[in-house]
Amino acid sequence: MTKYGMAISLGKCVGCGACGLACKTENNTEFETNGRKYNWADFYRTTTGQFPNVNYKVFPVQCNHCTDAPCVEACPVTPKAMFKTDDGITMHNDERCIGCQSCVVACPYSNKDVITESVQYSNISFNPIGVPTQDFYNNETSIINGCTSSPKETATLAGAIPPDKNDYTSDEYNDVRPSGVTEKCYFCDHRLKVGENPYCVDSCPAGARVFGDLNDNSSEISQLLAQNQNKRFKNNIGEFLEPGVSGTNPNVYYIGDFNSPYFINNLFAKEIKKLHIYPNPVRNDATVEFDLDKASPVSLSIFNIMGKEVRKVFVNKNCQMGKNRLKINVLGLSVGTYICSLRTNTGLMSGNIVVTR
Ligand code: SF4
Ligand code: SF4
Ligand code: SF4
Repeated sequence: MTKYGMAISLGKCVGCGACGLACKTENNTEFETNGRKYNWADFYRTTTGQFPNVNYKVFPVQCNHCTDAPCVEACPVTPKAMFKTDDGITMHNDERCIGCQSCVVACPYSNKDVITESVQYSNISFNPIGVPTQDFYNNETSIINGCTSSPKETATLAGAIPPDKNDYTSDEYNDVRPSGVTEKCYFCDHRLKVGENPYCVDSCPAGARVFGDLNDNSSEISQLLAQNQNKRFKNNIGEFLEPGVSGTNPNVYYIGDFNSPYFINNLFAKEIKKLHIYPNPVRNDATVEFDLDKASPVSLSIFNIMGKEVRKVFVNKNCQMGKNRLKINVLGLSVGTYICSLRTNTGLMSGNIVVTR
């Protein structure tokens, strides 16, 4: 039976936040308000040391879709509003939820109020009873009176709240959650159903997230976890489970470490060297020049700063050991900054490219 999970390679993560933004747009989540975050994809950050020897780390976080999910155990309604699907997703049913927040209290990664309880994130958020959700879009105040639109005007003109609403239909969950229920990451169930990855996975310009079936030994995620030491969060205050300790059996795994010198110095630099894109800024054609330590198939894609892949330039193009030059064409891309991402089977290097006219 399928058991979905996610592996996040911290050595690849650049902390850009593209996954967080992508999740917000894909799942119509609200802005943070009154200690409730509504960030189904969020971040745990640490800063240690003293200037100039400061060490900053970013850990992308989300619901861990725990196998032994205490949020499910705690949910008092029958049938449960918070429940496990056959493929391992911790799912939430908006209709059955009575808003008691027992799940929030039971989840080691959630708090009712992240401000008063001094935590950085909460996997589950609550929509208070009697308070309209997406209340920002009921605001009739313009930033510049008589010049810019108010949130309400924007939503009215767009015919939706939020104005960029992504519609998905499901018997379990609504595309915009009502008042009086909890909400959290569904592993983008609506995308899985049509054969797509979770959006945070597809939007990561660094390719740091891998999603798949943990029960399939041949899946990319299983192979990745078999070949690399990994760890899982124990709670939302930055502690990891000790090796051999299962905790709630979270199914989101972390490989390596953010800004890992080993990864940068050995894996990236050995595989791909001296990525150089010229001319930059570019109007039409540019050359991507790089050195490889050994002959390897190379894939090259261009991502926008939201993390969306906007052009697949090459897929598994055989490249020689030593210097390689690949031509890219940016015609059709609007003016702006993009990320040019070069991958081999085991290495990845990215560089910015500015498109001008
Ligand atoms: S992380 Fe929290 S909300 Fe998600 S499955 Fe585990 S206990 Fe439930
Ligand atoms: S808030 Fe909803 S999902 Fe959470 S425990 Fe209560 S009824 Fe269940
Ligand atoms: S799997 Fe989907 S819902 Fe969950 S954090 Fe990623 S984008 Fe958000």
